[in-house]
Amino acid sequence: MIASRLQNIREQLLPGVTLVAVSKTRSSDEIMEAYNAGQRVFGENRAQEMAAKFEELPKDIQWHIIGHLQRNKVKFIAPFVHLVHSVDSFRLLKEINKEAAHHNRTIPVLLQYHIAREDSKYGLKEPVPSFLTDGSMDAVKNVEICGVMGMATFTDDEALIREEFRKLRGIFEQLKQGVMCGNEAFREISMGMSADFLLAQHEGSTMVRVGSDIFGERNYT
Ligand SMILES: *Cc1c(COP(=O)(O)O)cnc(C)c1O
Repeated sequence: MIASRLQNIREQLLPGVTLVAVSKTRSSDEIMEAYNAGQRVFGENRAQEMAAKFEELPKDIQWHIIGHLQRNKVKFIAPFVHLVHSVDSFRLLKEINKEAAHHNRTIPVLLQYHIAREDSKYGLKEPVPSFLTDGSMDAVKNVEICGVMGMATFTDDEALIREEFRKLRGIFEQLKQGVMCGNEAFREISMGMSADFLLAQHEGSTMVRVGSDIFGERNYT
């Protein structure tokens, strides 16, 4: 079941788009079904849940954290996390940098932007946050900013979703041509979930985060 749903998604992906299988709340057996069907990139929204799954599951899985990350949880994932999608403050970036240095590594991250209509505590609102331009980045050499991430409003209004994805794409282009200019690593736009990943790809997504279309409906998030 999971393998055939996965195959169905893969057939709809544009070339070069990375599929992050969102496995939050899913059991190791469910994850292994996807793994055995060739999936290696998985996304979780809770640090400790992800760390427990990392311990138990094959070591060639690339674990992405996609949900809000509290600073005091960074330590649980710092040794192994492949990509943090949800950096929305310099304080969090500094903490990730500190833990990355502690483990003698560089942690790739995305900047999360607030693009939805909905009120949310999370996500940057300024397209170019001051920490990118005021020299603060010199102090965080163990993180690498690889792109942007955002979530569209939960709605049936396709025009609104499209507008929000375009906004994120616009922010990406602004950074790419501005403060991130010449930075080869800065190339990812993480947008699109089960309900809207086709639209997101159309608007330039390079990374889609799909959960329920692969694993079935969740009882909770
Ligand atoms: C849960 C979650 C997803 C996946 O949602 P589905 O609707 O199950 O595809 C994607 N991104 C984030 C940030 C999530 O928390």
